[in-house]
Amino acid sequence: MVTSFTQRRPTQQTGATRSRSAHAVPDSSPTLDQLKEFRLNLMKQLQATLDLEQILRTFFNELQHLVALDGCHYQADSVGLVLDFGETGRHRCNYELSLNDEQFGRLGFSRNKRLLEKEMQLLESVMDVLVYPMRNALLYRKALATAMIDPLTGLNNRGAMAVTLNREMDRMRRHDQDMSILMVDIDHFKDINDRYGHLAGDDVLRQVAQLIDTTIRGCDACFRFGGEEFLIMLTDSNLPLARMVAERLRHTISEQTRSPAPNSLVTISVGVAHFDDESDWPELVDRADRALYQAKQAGRNRVVTDHPQTTTAQAL
Ligand code: GH3
Ligand code: MG
Ligand code: MG
Repeated sequence: MVTSFTQRRPTQQTGATRSRSAHAVPDSSPTLDQLKEFRLNLMKQLQATLDLEQILRTFFNELQHLVALDGCHYQADSVGLVLDFGETGRHRCNYELSLNDEQFGRLGFSRNKRLLEKEMQLLESVMDVLVYPMRNALLYRKALATAMIDPLTGLNNRGAMAVTLNREMDRMRRHDQDMSILMVDIDHFKDINDRYGHLAGDDVLRQVAQLIDTTIRGCDACFRFGGEEFLIMLTDSNLPLARMVAERLRHTISEQTRSPAPNSLVTISVGVAHFDDESDWPELVDRADRALYQAKQAGRNRVVTDHPQTTTAQAL
């Protein structure tokens, strides 16, 4: 097992003026025994969690017993993560973290008072303790992200949907904002599979997913609900706006999806529901689902809202 841990020697940026550090600098350097005990204790704490943020926060807090620091900045472009702890100081030292060829991002410490050479040496003497907890936390984070993605369409899946919907419903409730959802179902999709095979069906699913993704706004979200059904969450959208989006989507999909069946369009039916202070996402989804059922009953290729007076039925 290779445990080498590469640290790029830090460059310290200097500031024009000196100001006092927020923490008291430990008076004397720790003895070898103290350092050994510190490392052991730190290792135990870091191994107790797979939460990257908690690992770095613990590391930063514990380091204060060794070297007084004002701030810590971590950036991992591979997972699009930036974390900041404490307050950014004037003087900085940065480390590129890697294990063999695996990159873990950049970790920087900062302080208003200039960092001494012996303090940087102390920092570096415990940096390797971070290696495995960091690697495990990053792997776990990537696994969680993958578990939330539908491999066929690249959209977020139903698991991600439950988390996002509940979080957004909470936010809408707190800020008293509108939110609507669309339940989208491809019409007679089974026929495509039956007549042209499952790969042709998969291709249609990917196209529809892509068209939905490019039609909705950046602040909205689309999830593969299951099979040939998609759920779209429209933030800040009342019922008329949501219905308009649904109609636009219905036209876009029938006009732009390449159907494997000659001279035939791929169409969708859509059920629309407006967030009405439901306490949990299944209640809201259930109303959209019932509206979708009505759209199917009424002949497909149409948009129906869960409000009877606002039903639109416009076959292409
Ligand atoms: P309706 O208009 O009433 O929605 O009819 P439908 O044929 O679209 O609906 P139905 O529920 O009868 O059939 C859905 C089909 O979708 C059945 C299932 O095999 C197929 N399906 C589900 N997931 C996938 C997938 O990932 N790929 C492919 N190719 N087919 C799938
Ligand atoms: Mg269906
Ligand atoms: Mg269908």
